Amino acid sequence: MTKWVYNFGGGSAEGDTSMKNLLGGKGANLAEMASLGLPVPPGFTMTAEVCTSYYDNGEKYPDDLDPQTEAGLAHIEKLTGKKFGDAANPLLVSVRSGARASMPGMMDTVLNLGLNDTTVEGLAALSGDRRFALDSYRRFITMYSDVVLGVHHHTFEDILERHKDDEGYVLDTEMTAGDWEAVIGRFKDAVKRELGRDFPQDPREQLQGAIDAVFGSWMNERAIVYRRLNDIPAAWGTAVNVQAMVFGNMGETSATGVAFTRDPSTGENTYYGEFLINAQGEDVVAGIRTPQTLTKKAREEMGEEAPSMEEAMPDVYGQLAATFVKLEDHYRDMQDIEFTVEQGKLWMLQTRTGKRTARAALKIAVDMAEAGQITHDEALMRIEPLSLDQLLHPTLNPDAPRDVIAMGLPASPGAAIGEVVFSSDEAEELRKAGHKVILVRTETSPEDIHGMHAAEAIVTARGGMTSHAAVVARGMGKPCVSGAGNIRIDMDAQEFSVAGRIIKKGEIVTVDGASGQVFMGAVDMVQPELSGDFAKVMDWADEARTLGIRTNAETPLDVQTAKDFGAEGIGLCRTEHMFFEADRLAHFREMILATDKKGREDALAKILPVQREDFAAIFRIMKDRPCTIRLLDPPLHEFLPHTEADIQSVAETLNLPAKELMARARELAESNPMLGHRGCRLGISYPEIYEMQARAIFEAEIMVEKETGRKPTAEIMIPLVSSAKELEILREAIIRVADEVGGVHYTIGTMIELPRAALRAGDIAEHAKFFSFGTNDLTQTTFGLSRDDAGRFLPDYVAAGIMEKDPFVTLDQDGVGDLIKIAAERGRATRPDIKLGICGEHGGDPASITFCHNAGLDYVSCSPYRVPIARLSAAQAAIATKMA
Ligand code: ADP
Ligand code: MG
Ligand code: MG
Repeated sequence: MTKWVYNFGGGSAEGDTSMKNLLGGKGANLAEMASLGLPVPPGFTMTAEVCTSYYDNGEKYPDDLDPQTEAGLAHIEKLTGKKFGDAANPLLVSVRSGARASMPGMMDTVLNLGLNDTTVEGLAALSGDRRFALDSYRRFITMYSDVVLGVHHHTFEDILERHKDDEGYVLDTEMTAGDWEAVIGRFKDAVKRELGRDFPQDPREQLQGAIDAVFGSWMNERAIVYRRLNDIPAAWGTAVNVQAMVFGNMGETSATGVAFTRDPSTGENTYYGEFLINAQGEDVVAGIRTPQTLTKKAREEMGEEAPSMEEAMPDVYGQLAATFVKLEDHYRDMQDIEFTVEQGKLWMLQTRTGKRTARAALKIAVDMAEAGQITHDEALMRIEPLSLDQLLHPTLNPDAPRDVIAMGLPASPGAAIGEVVFSSDEAEELRKAGHKVILVRTETSPEDIHGMHAAEAIVTARGGMTSHAAVVARGMGKPCVSGAGNIRIDMDAQEFSVAGRIIKKGEIVTVDGASGQVFMGAVDMVQPELSGDFAKVMDWADEARTLGIRTNAETPLDVQTAKDFGAEGIGLCRTEHMFFEADRLAHFREMILATDKKGREDALAKILPVQREDFAAIFRIMKDRPCTIRLLDPPLHEFLPHTEADIQSVAETLNLPAKELMARARELAESNPMLGHRGCRLGISYPEIYEMQARAIFEAEIMVEKETGRKPTAEIMIPLVSSAKELEILREAIIRVADEVGGVHYTIGTMIELPRAALRAGDIAEHAKFFSFGTNDLTQTTFGLSRDDAGRFLPDYVAAGIMEKDPFVTLDQDGVGDLIKIAAERGRATRPDIKLGICGEHGGDPASITFCHNAGLDYVSCSPYRVPIARLSAAQAAIATKMA
């Protein structure tokens, strides 16, 4: 018999936190908290296996589920001393979804389930507060109708607003029991009108309806989109939690709130949270009323009037603070908590490891490691390498002039510039058309996920630091300013106004999520640097990793940036980029267009000093760190003018008839240039090109050595080799030049970027001191797939499950990876100390870096901004190996 239902509450539980896959995150942690002796309302979790079984069997539940559900209800009844559906002493429950990974887009929680026209009177009598009972009932009808029956909550909000208008009320708190009773009658009428049947009065029917809705929501559009964006398989399923209600809406000594054990935005070690007195459920998150702060310090910092919980409810605050300590000690990580206070008693409703910004992740990891709570290795494992990207991007230049138009809460740090847009659909469309947009909304809801994804930053008029916009933006690593209260959005006019100014759709603004400010126009940005916690984590990473980290760079700016970010050398310097600059393109074109060797040599002689200076600049920055320089790689025709106007002007500069130029261009044109006359094939046909490049490298070495007294080390790399003979010939030519120049330091090696090269690595290694896997071309040639054209149909391949990921982003370990392993093995058999590295785009991808570590490569090389990510990824790979 399968166990489908797990109970918790009363100081123990059948599940625990290790059972997340089965019980979902929420259920597993409720069980864990119950076992820790924390005050958790009793309940049960219906497993995610029920969900998968339901979908595997044509949306039918397992036969033996019902008796287990009954037993779960009986367990809650026993612990609370109440009965589900009882007229005098009714048990009310919440029905909550909860997948393995926290997932917006799933069904919203239904509270107060079990209320009907009879039990509401029981609740009124029991609590001695009829207004409270009716308030709970109207909430239930609204929630249940909205999320289970599909009657939009606006229907109910409109009825309530109309009633308040008629009575001259402003706040919900002015509503009396009689008012609520009248409104509830109208709510029920509205349901009947829309659905043609009564609001369900039978608690069992209510419960089944809510459970069906949770499982149903697993396959709704929002959930599917979220799963796709976050790589969550549909096969995980969601669990359902049914839990006894506790009431935050039982008067002035009751409250509901959310909290983090540390600041999720900065990582600062202070309690952080918001609460609302006499409120229920997600009132805090929904931004209906402005929540109060948890601590006195936060209240003062934010300049708020309303007392903090620390001041208003010192006793409960004490219980909460003690719980924070207990939870952090237990989970050894920052927790994100939901709680309710019922008449002065604290109840815990959720805990989970809190989402945090990259900056907070660093700070928390460093703080906890330095406090001895976790080891350096654990600290390193807790930081998502790709999230570092957020910290590597420019921030506002503190000295730049700025024009503040709005102020809100610093909900998610980072700065971004973009054009204002008011709808998520439009944000997505504009993004697709290449625009950068800032999404400005009154508030966001799960329907906005795609728009938030498309936006550079998000600004909302309403909502606190734990509002939907804030939480989701932090998760996505996007800057967000929430609760910019003085913004008024006019959707019809497609503009927003703030303090008398009007900002129209399409106008450019700058958002600074770290300060909570929005500025008119584009504010100047500055480059980040590695310091503080970031630098510390990088140091720890360097201690842990065994893989070397180099960079792909050729301009002095890129080389310097990469070195500042910790690159230990250059893994790929592409010399062709150097020819595109205006001052040499003309000479280079002259060289290409030359019809004989003499003509080419004359042109090359003009390029030589410029190239020499390029290399010298790199050597000056990299000092004696190794620099791998790749000789000319792309097909020559890439350098030729293509447009009519271009041809004309080149013809003039070179003093050639345009006709002749066009003829030569036609001659050079290839039908498949990627597989054509490029790489070492050019070197074979025109040895003088590679000879000139080698000479420039060697002369630059001598020059820099004279200047600095240190010998640079060039690693000269021959591209697109497929046979040992090619390399042998070109190597001899380079050695000849080296001997002519004399007194230089260098090695010669090759790219492995063709399947034949990988297979013949054994004899190629006779002539190569190093191999660098050019995984971009190796992926293209292994799959027979052009990177430039694959974009059109790769998504179909991923959707059809033929490929898990885009192989140009994450290395195809089975195929391309196999060739790398073969080449490494055969290369080492010939030359045991051969140096092995990778210089494709994959060198900056965490999963691919793990592969390189496991394959025993010596280094990875990536673009400058990826260097810190690569350092951390390499450390994580080494730590994972150690732990295995
Ligand atoms: P989400 O996954 O969207 O956070 P939850 O299931 O956590 O949804 O429910 C949202 C809120 O509803 C909780 O934070 C809590 O305030 C309230 N809630 C849920 N269950 C109960 C309960 N049994 N008693 C009181 N409030 C509850
Ligand atoms: Mg929710
Ligand atoms: Mg929750």
